[in-house]
Amino acid sequence: MAKEKDKAGPDLTKIRNLGIIAHIDAGKTTTSEHLLFYSGATHQLGKVDSGNTMTDFDEEEQERGITIYSACVPFQWRDCTVNLIDTPGHVDFTAEVERSLRVLDGCVVVFDAQKGVEAQSETVWRQADKYRVPRLVFVNKMDVVGANFDAAVAEVRERLEANPLPLQLPIGAGGPNDSPKPFAGVVDLLERKALYFDPADLGKTIRVEDVPEDMEADVAVWRDKLFDALTANDADDKITSLVLEGKDVPLETLRAVIREQTLKMLIQPVLCGSGRNHIGIQPLLDACTYYLPSPLDRPPVVGTHPTKKDKEEKRKCDPKEPFCGLVFKVVAGSHGELFFVRIYSGTLKPQSRLTNPGKESKELISKLYHTQADPTQRTELPEAVAGDIIALVGLKVSVTGDTLCETQHPILLEPITFAEPVVSQSIEPESSADRDRLTEVLTILRREDPTFTWRDDKDTGQKLMSGMGTLHLEIKRHRMERDFRLKVRVGKPRVSYRETLKSARTVEGDTQHLAGAHNLFARAVVEFEPTDGSGESIQVVSDLKPETIPAAFEAALIQGIRNSLDSGDVGFPVMNVRATIRAAKMDEALSTDAAFAAAGADAVRQALRDNVILLEPVMRLEVTVPEEALGAIAGDLNSRRAEILDQFPRGKLWVVEAIVALARMFDYADKARSLSAGRASYTMEPSAYRPAPDEVLRKMLDPFAD
Ligand code: GDP
Ligand code: MG
Repeated sequence: MAKEKDKAGPDLTKIRNLGIIAHIDAGKTTTSEHLLFYSGATHQLGKVDSGNTMTDFDEEEQERGITIYSACVPFQWRDCTVNLIDTPGHVDFTAEVERSLRVLDGCVVVFDAQKGVEAQSETVWRQADKYRVPRLVFVNKMDVVGANFDAAVAEVRERLEANPLPLQLPIGAGGPNDSPKPFAGVVDLLERKALYFDPADLGKTIRVEDVPEDMEADVAVWRDKLFDALTANDADDKITSLVLEGKDVPLETLRAVIREQTLKMLIQPVLCGSGRNHIGIQPLLDACTYYLPSPLDRPPVVGTHPTKKDKEEKRKCDPKEPFCGLVFKVVAGSHGELFFVRIYSGTLKPQSRLTNPGKESKELISKLYHTQADPTQRTELPEAVAGDIIALVGLKVSVTGDTLCETQHPILLEPITFAEPVVSQSIEPESSADRDRLTEVLTILRREDPTFTWRDDKDTGQKLMSGMGTLHLEIKRHRMERDFRLKVRVGKPRVSYRETLKSARTVEGDTQHLAGAHNLFARAVVEFEPTDGSGESIQVVSDLKPETIPAAFEAALIQGIRNSLDSGDVGFPVMNVRATIRAAKMDEALSTDAAFAAAGADAVRQALRDNVILLEPVMRLEVTVPEEALGAIAGDLNSRRAEILDQFPRGKLWVVEAIVALARMFDYADKARSLSAGRASYTMEPSAYRPAPDEVLRKMLDPFAD
């Protein structure tokens, strides 16, 4: 009898969408490369230091040894399909981390065994809390001088207010030249076995032995701790009575309980190893399959109905639900644009029509792909289902952060929020024939990366590009030259200021500033007020009764207000303002869309005149220095009017945490180097916008003052 073809589709419990996150240099790339190597997804082990890694596929990244784009790399491990979503480790790219967290189900946080919890790992940990992403901890670099597993675990517990639970202990610590007992392998606390990894075949062969005698006491202590922690949360008595009766808990049960508590974020299992020495990676992979969530373990995705905003919509991870997905990355290149989509529900086939509810338009999906680390390498798919991560081609209007859904079953997912760019730089083509080309390329780059923006400066007529840091802008410039063959000249990086309202004001805007105004009529009363910054930065709402003016005029008025707020009283984008249209008046013969747009612009002009506060970006800075340079570094920070938040030892070094205006930090890299004989390192990331000192605005308004 012919068996009917299995139509059940892929087993979703066997999918792991995971990311690896870490402070820069903790070993994220090294770890990722090992995962790919042991799983057979790559045949060669890429080395960060020689710049040939798979996940850092971009030349730019290879040069710098950092990861800029979050590529999705699928591989098999035992019976699971792992989609490794690469996340960047550099502070200039927090938006990339944030967007990957939206689409992954679980993550591994890598810490440096000597440095412990560093600034960026803290930021990212908190972001993972925000998105409720269950996680594992990997204490890497157990082979370096001063590596300290216990201290790293304690720091995770204290600084991150977490509940890290070691499932392994390191055998030794440090390297052969600096430690009496160098790092040699790991003890598995669940199975009470020692694991050693053969360096001759890059750690592929694992030797399993008994726990070394001198570690037996430690192993007993840590197993007790493990059971204490698990029984504390064991509400439905899966293991507690067994433990109390002194009976052995079957390994399967123990793993099930650890999984359950990891998914509830009650604990974070901790493993350790050394990427460089090929130690501990396969157990980490096993732990990902044992303890991290499948797409089915995640709560249904929640959004709103696109037109009935207070109607909540939910989608379960089920191939039979209506389709919905999120565009989390757009990669442009000579091969066209690839749109990376996380599918939350439903099934998608090639040649289907979907709605992009945020843009109120339809998209034709021509083809579906699974990608490799290099997005030019891809496999075409006949269909894709909930839980998967795929790349699409053929989209016209969608950008990063957009929802795609079935037209009959609309849902709008919460858009991805991005930090405001803090650094700007003027840019122009080397050849004036390339002016239009520059606009085109800037538009493509903006589409890929929402933390990169550009605009025409009203006063100088120059184009200004803005991003998260000087490195970010430098990379964009390289991409223009390398990927788009566009030669450009750039100005000095400058602080990207913002404006906000000093006080609320209600004004009446009209068309008097528009050329040919006597032939036109439009009037609008608009109330402008500062907001506390929660919610969207610029909110424009209409309080008009229906039919006061036609919908097209109302839309033009709103757009006119929005456009003008893009460059405020002294030319910087306005933020944290709400505009409410209170009244509007039209004339049957003399009103047009343009007239209402002009009235909106006029209202903004009046509301902002002598009524703005200039805001400047302030940064969160963490400097790590040897003790002998601590005084010089702190003194220098004081002279930059930094607010020093904390100063504490970490290993053999000192850490200084501070808040400081970006405007005072452009020369910091050189200065920190010279004050510490090259030994200080630091990270800096945008923290907030604060009112700039009065003299900054005064100088802008009158450059010849004092
Ligand atoms: P990422 O910035 O987090 O991606 O870190 P990388 O994987 O690029 O590693 C940063 C540096 O640390 C590189 O020079 C690596 O060779 C080195 N490294 C990574 N893992 C280890 C490790 O386990 N031990 C030692 N000693 N060095 C490591
Ligand atoms: Mg890296």
